[in-house]
Amino acid sequence: MKKETSLAIVVPCYNEEEMLPQSLPVLLQTLDDLIAKAKISTDSRLYLVDDGSRDRTWELINSACEHYNGRVAGVKLSRNKGHQNALLAGLESTDEDIIVSIDADLQDDPSNIEKMVDEYHAGNDVVYGVRAARDTDTFFKRFTAEGYYHLMRRMGVDLVFNHADFRLMSRRALDALLEYRESQLFLRGIVREVGFPSASVEYDRQERAAGETKYPLRKMLSFAWHGISSFSTAPLRAITLLGIIASGLSLLLIVWVMGTRLFTDNAIPGWTSILVPLLFIGSVQLLSLGIIGEYLAKMFEELKQRPRYHLEKVKKPTRTSSQEND
Ligand code: UDP
Ligand code: MG
Repeated sequence: MKKETSLAIVVPCYNEEEMLPQSLPVLLQTLDDLIAKAKISTDSRLYLVDDGSRDRTWELINSACEHYNGRVAGVKLSRNKGHQNALLAGLESTDEDIIVSIDADLQDDPSNIEKMVDEYHAGNDVVYGVRAARDTDTFFKRFTAEGYYHLMRRMGVDLVFNHADFRLMSRRALDALLEYRESQLFLRGIVREVGFPSASVEYDRQERAAGETKYPLRKMLSFAWHGISSFSTAPLRAITLLGIIASGLSLLLIVWVMGTRLFTDNAIPGWTSILVPLLFIGSVQLLSLGIIGEYLAKMFEELKQRPRYHLEKVKKPTRTSSQEND
């Protein structure tokens, strides 16, 4: 019989003392239901990661670990390192066959985990939770978030539209992901980078039931820029393009300035000798910056030391007996 599949649910928690008492029973119930339906094994677990909270979050996690001995595991970061790092710490702690990451506020309905597990059993290594509607978000959040996905696409970053960090990964997909050693991982981008067969599960996002968002605008903007700067060299390349355009325009202007100076009486004294060097130096500088940018982009790609590929399937030729005798 096929080996049973163990499931780990990883939950990053930052100042979630109001939310945890609500989410904990729901998530444990989700596990129980899946175990009862024999979709996952009985040693499936919840991993709660305390991202250096300043409230009672760790006390709650600690007592949950003792109360639900064996079913809840806890990890505490030494200080607040942000959602992505907390999530990563949780993912690295697991040794289960499939791993689901979900936020502590249960805005992403855990009842979808069952659909995700089904997709896994259907042969998918990665299952993305995708928000069907953003009704519960403010217009501002919706507008900026969707604009951001489009912008990332334009810059050549492959993101799943309206997918955040609610997803399932198989052990081999997670192991491949953990081969990315760059210290600032932009998880939702890396998961796409890793590849493997994937599917999506659509759901409606709920409102946060308790506590407030741990992502104020400041953090959101820095996260957005982090996503762009860790995946795309488009901003650097843009300098080269700007340099080329500026050089072309400057050349035309220089011709015009010289023409005005030589063939008409319209040039004020000093005008030509200021404008020509100004245009020349300006465009040379921009072009030089662009060239430096190109090398910087190369170094940036190399520095990340990303794995070159991951094997999905290996089919080795079966040796014939005559070869074995060689
Ligand atoms: N979170 C975290 N560290 C942080 C900020 C947030 O671990 O520095 C966790 C938080 O506890 C929650 C998840 O990340 O489980 C998503 O945060 P939140 O719901 O506040 O974000 P939003 O849904 O508003 O974007
Ligand atoms: Mg939330």
